[in-house]
Amino acid sequence: MKPFTYLSPTTVEEAISFYGQHSETAKFMAGGTDVIVKVKEGWMEPDFLISLKRIKEMSELHKNEATKELSIGALVTHATLEKSLMIKNEYPIIYDAVSNIGSLQVRNVGTIGGNLINAVPSADGAVPMIALDGVALLHGPDGERSSDVKDLFLAPYKTILKPGEILKKITIPAQAPHTGSAYTKFGRRAAMELPLVGIGVLLTLDDDLETCTRARIVLGVAGPTPMRAFDAENYLVGKKINEDLLIEAGKLAADESKVRDSVRGKAWHRREMVRVHVKRMGLKCMNIIRANN
Ligand SMILES: Cc1cc2nc3c(=O)[nH]c(=O)nc-3n(C[C@H](O)[C@H](O)[C@H](O)COP(=O)(O)OP(=O)(O)OC[C@H]3O[C@@H](n4cnc5c(N)ncnc54)[C@H](O)[C@@H]3O)c2cc1C
Repeated sequence: MKPFTYLSPTTVEEAISFYGQHSETAKFMAGGTDVIVKVKEGWMEPDFLISLKRIKEMSELHKNEATKELSIGALVTHATLEKSLMIKNEYPIIYDAVSNIGSLQVRNVGTIGGNLINAVPSADGAVPMIALDGVALLHGPDGERSSDVKDLFLAPYKTILKPGEILKKITIPAQAPHTGSAYTKFGRRAAMELPLVGIGVLLTLDDDLETCTRARIVLGVAGPTPMRAFDAENYLVGKKINEDLLIEAGKLAADESKVRDSVRGKAWHRREMVRVHVKRMGLKCMNIIRANN
């Protein structure tokens, strides 16, 4: 492993300034579960590793009780999200996704920000952030800007972040009443496995608890970046939800997925699992909504 200098700023501004001084050879690091593996294997050879871990404001998990907006600092670990009762009860799709990431050790240090910015198609944390209409707050040498999480990803390992830009937090807007959400990671093993597909569904129903007013169907590992299945979403909105409609939505999502063969699985298998799990997650959403009303 090539030696590097470890820098440990305490503010976002300081981190950006460190990056500016060494931009050619510097790399940001949060939990390091991706970065350190790459450095150890020699796939990445930074001269400077800029740890973001001491930047306190980026570790905050907070729900504004007045606006009902949820704010998730980029440094919030998967374990913190997993242990939060508020997350488990109010944002089950986040709980479902993070509680199955890697192992306990990986979840204890791996962060939601690192999961998004690493930008692999199988990032479990990306699906719920997209389904919940999350907005990413970025801060770089030119100041702050925001982006919908769904627009962060350009290609595997490539995001819209410019050099020196930091993801500070993700905000999740208030969720409408009668909303249910769920995620499943389908793979060959339950633990320590990247998913063959990751499927997130969020449904909001009208006061009649039948008519769908909002649908989010988000697919992981079904293309080069996490993607929304817009045809399937649009098919559900305005209709009274039942199992037949969810079966049809599963077929539409499978058709619009951009699955391919890989060492972990065949395209046809992925497409089939999209079809099956969109329906299952839709039914789980309906059960959650009905149990809460
Ligand atoms: C054994 C093992 C199992 C795993 N299992 C899973 C799994 O099941 N599901 C899954 O999704 N992932 C899995 N991962 C991948 C990884 O743990 C997660 O992606 C994790 O969330 C990455 O977070 P981190 O804080 O460790 O990121 P880091 O390794 O610190 O950083 C990852 C990338 O993001 C950049 N970065 C980090 N934070 C910021 C920020 N705030 N602003 C700008 N850039 C930033 C870094 O420069 C780097 O390019 C696994 C990893 C290992 C080693």
